[in-house]
Amino acid sequence: MPAILDAQSPASAPQIQPHTGVRIPITVAHGDGIGPEIMHATLSILDAAGAPLSYEPIELGEAVYLRGITAGIEPEAWDTLRRNRVLLKAPITTPQGGGYKSLNVTLRKALGLYANVRPAAAYAPFVHTRHPKMGVVIVRENEEDLYGGIEHQQTDEVVQCLKLISRPGCERIIRHAFEYARANGRRKVTCMTKDNIMKKTDGLFHQVFNEIAAEYPDIANDHLIIDIGAARLADSPEMFDVVVTLNLYGDIISDIAAQVAGSVGLAPSANIGQHVAMFEAIHGSAPQIAGQDVANPSGLLLSAVMMLVHLGQGHIAQTIHNAWLRTIEDGIHTADIYNQNISRYKVGTQAFAAAVIERLGKEPLQLAPARYNTTGNAQAEQEQIVYTRRAPAKKQLVGVDVFLDWRGANPEDLGNALHAAGTRALALSMITNRGVKVWPNGLPETFCTDHWRCRFHAPVDAFVTPEDVLALLSSVHAHGFDFVKTEHLYTFDGHAGYSLGQGQ
Ligand code: NAD
Repeated sequence: MPAILDAQSPASAPQIQPHTGVRIPITVAHGDGIGPEIMHATLSILDAAGAPLSYEPIELGEAVYLRGITAGIEPEAWDTLRRNRVLLKAPITTPQGGGYKSLNVTLRKALGLYANVRPAAAYAPFVHTRHPKMGVVIVRENEEDLYGGIEHQQTDEVVQCLKLISRPGCERIIRHAFEYARANGRRKVTCMTKDNIMKKTDGLFHQVFNEIAAEYPDIANDHLIIDIGAARLADSPEMFDVVVTLNLYGDIISDIAAQVAGSVGLAPSANIGQHVAMFEAIHGSAPQIAGQDVANPSGLLLSAVMMLVHLGQGHIAQTIHNAWLRTIEDGIHTADIYNQNISRYKVGTQAFAAAVIERLGKEPLQLAPARYNTTGNAQAEQEQIVYTRRAPAKKQLVGVDVFLDWRGANPEDLGNALHAAGTRALALSMITNRGVKVWPNGLPETFCTDHWRCRFHAPVDAFVTPEDVLALLSSVHAHGFDFVKTEHLYTFDGHAGYSLGQGQ
């Protein structure tokens, strides 16, 4: 299969007509640590290849954080990002200590960069790997899941982090994965979730995957539980083609894939949104080797190749990618991938860039050459991903989970007291502790914290009103209990929209 890093995503690609002599403005962030050196090397290759780009720099990262801006980005930079709609970003350093927000999470969320596309390819035998045939692309959902940052301490002993998964979020990322597969000649999309445990959240992702997969009969599909999926990715990555998964799992497995391919220093990424796209290496700012001209610029360079494809500059992307493959093939390696049995020259960052420039116009002799769409028409390649909201389901309130901060030890005592707090509309049906049923008929072995989920249900076939819930909460409070939160229990078109207790 030809080496391909990314399909175009014209939704966020500026409307560019190539070959007109007009330069495409992009925003560039030189970053911290090794950032400036690898960016210099990358831009020198782009310029030598004749990429029709102009660069508008913005400052991000450590210096901005240390000026007291906790987001790590100057407010004016947002205008530049919105105007140019494409950011090539070097890694930044997040200062140690509290109060500094992750700039990457801020950029992804604020700019709606919902798809994180991370190819991890082996370059055997020129870069050492135990998996010479691997060429997997991880498509990671980038905005939702546990990365919402919605966390609360509810009792002395228990904190929570809310995992939010939406149908539009699932549809966009899964469709993106199938469109990517189709545009890049990939044959299979594998979904990874943990829906055997998280039946609602991961279950929705899996269900939407099945729905969308049916629209792509030309592409094979399968599903793996994330734990065995991650294990197989580490052990036999060549069995995967495109993998689509939720944010946290994707974060973890894309680093596994990059590492087993040979080096995190080689792996690029694209963060694609409807309006803006950001391209960056997956590695960090490597402060230990900063300023020494030893860092590998390949991750950022290959991210720039993905950016060129996104901009409809496939012919230049192809030229650069093939020159890079030829450089790797010629054994010209930076220290991180240098191996005395394989490599011929150990070079620094800028010498590596010079070697790529020397090879512009050449193709690899053994590795599969890169092939991109060279028509220059980004808009024709991929349909804009549009979410169509469905007709609403019939939603009915049938109960409420009341969470208590209660320091007692015996669930029977709690059950008896709360039973009395129930109302005609809402009766106590179950108590769980950390999700495990402890009343009625709990096991004495179950360890209990101070955080209790008490489920009150309407009688069979009856519905409750918000007033019924308020009356219940007043009663619970009047019986001396400290409720710390509630969750409504709804049915949607008659199907329960809530999970059962473990052991219920
Ligand atoms: P890191 O990726 O910077 O370094 C991990 C290891 O890989 C180090 O041994 C490093 O020397 C090596 N390495 C990384 N990139 C390399 C390259 N191009 N060439 C050769 N060797 C390379 O991860 P870290 O040490 O955990 O983080 C350092 C800093 O980077 C932290 O401040 C972290 O917050 C930040 N970071 C930023 C980003 C980003 O901006 N996208 C991503 C990850 C980490």
